[in-house]
Amino acid sequence: MKIIKTNLFSKIISGNNAITIGTIIFIKPELVDRQDIIEHEKVHVAQFKRQPFTFWLRYIFSDKWRLRYECEAFATQIRYLISHDYNADLTSLIDRFANDIATYYRLPYSLAEIRAELVKAYRRLSNG
Ligand SMILES: [Zn+2]
Repeated sequence: MKIIKTNLFSKIISGNNAITIGTIIFIKPELVDRQDIIEHEKVHVAQFKRQPFTFWLRYIFSDKWRLRYECEAFATQIRYLISHDYNADLTSLIDRFANDIATYYRLPYSLAEIRAELVKAYRRLSNG
């Protein structure tokens, strides 16, 4: 895994703070200290390693898989924030990130459906 500081991808894809290609994480220079975002991107590295030949195909062409991958990544980010910030509130974080997923990932699901998936992913993480 390698982390590269760049603004390149934020110029191409609006709303993106970071993007992971294979095992390389590209992140805006001003966000490199945001460990919660790094933790999110590390999940995508793990997903890529689990399915090196199909991860990107699934991510790009399957709404179901893109939702699943992002919920796993955001659930990990939420767990990081909860365990490192005493003021972090689980419900607000779930709401905020469900809203981000609904806004930025071109998914055909309602906010309620996305939120339900994110809650499931977070529970899976907390139980496993
Ligand atoms: Zn992601």
